[in-house]
Amino acid sequence: MGMTGKRHSEETKARMSATRKGRKPTVEALHNHKKAVNTREYKEKMRALKTGLKHSEADLVKMRGRRHTEDEKRRMIAVHKGRKRSPETCARISAKAKGRQPTDDARAKISAAMKGRIMTSEHRARIGLANSRRKLSKESRAKISASLKANREVVTRLQTQGPFWDSKPAILVRKFIEENQIDLRKEFWLPELLGNGIYHKFDVYIPHVRLLVEVDGCYWHACPAHCPDGRRPKSDLEINELFNAGGYEGYSLVRLWEHDINSGVAFPILLKTIREMESKFAA
Ligand SMILES: [Zn+2]
Repeated sequence: MGMTGKRHSEETKARMSATRKGRKPTVEALHNHKKAVNTREYKEKMRALKTGLKHSEADLVKMRGRRHTEDEKRRMIAVHKGRKRSPETCARISAKAKGRQPTDDARAKISAAMKGRIMTSEHRARIGLANSRRKLSKESRAKISASLKANREVVTRLQTQGPFWDSKPAILVRKFIEENQIDLRKEFWLPELLGNGIYHKFDVYIPHVRLLVEVDGCYWHACPAHCPDGRRPKSDLEINELFNAGGYEGYSLVRLWEHDINSGVAFPILLKTIREMESKFAA
C-alpha cells in the first residue's frame, strides 16, 4: 500500500507467501484491515478497478453449482434484513424479470413454500391494491377470453350463479333483498378499510342506507352453536371491532349466521334493520 508504482518481484512474492502460509492474522491485524477496507475512498477505488471486469472461466467453473451453506444463508438474511432496495435496484430487478415466466420447477418450489401459509390482511390489501391498478395486457385478455370460450360450462355457471365462491346462504340473502325491491351490490369491496390494512369483500352492500351485509358460514366462521370448538377468523374480529362503535366511516354492518338464514330467522331481522335505517336516513 505504501509502495506507489513499485511491484514486488515474483521471487519476493513467493517468499512472502511462504512465510505467511498457515499463519492466522492477529485480531489486531484483522481490525486494521477492516478499518482500511471500510473507507469510502477504498471502496470507490475497488469499484473503479472492478467495474466491467468479468470472472475468468476458471473462477466461473469453481462457482458453478456451489450452494450457500445454511449458515451463510442465515448470515446473508441477517445482513439484508430491514434494508431497503434503492429505486435503481428495484428498476434493475424489474427490468430483468420482465416477461420472464417461472419454470415449472420454480413454481412447484414456490407453491410448496407457500403451502399452509395464511396471508395477513395487510398483504392481501397490498395485492388487491396492486391488482386494481394493473391493466390486463391485450394478450392476457385474449388468453382469458379464449379459455372461457373453450369452457362453456364455466361461463354458464358464472352467468347464472355469479362467482363460484358464492355460498348458498349468501345467494338466499340476495334473493330475499331483491324480492323486496331493494337495490343491492354484491361482492362489495370497501376501499376505506384499506386504511386499516383490511382488504375485504362483503357479500352484500345496500347503497341507499350504506349497509353492509356479511353472511357467515357456521363452519368457516365458527358459530358458537354449531362449531363451538372452531376459531373465529381474525379478519372477522378486526372488522367487527371497527364497526362496533356505531359504524365505520358512515357504513353499518350486519352479520347473519348461516343457520339463521337456513331457518329463516334472519330475514325479518334484516328487513327490519333496513327499514329502520331508511327512516333514520330520511330524518
Ligand atoms: Zn350455526
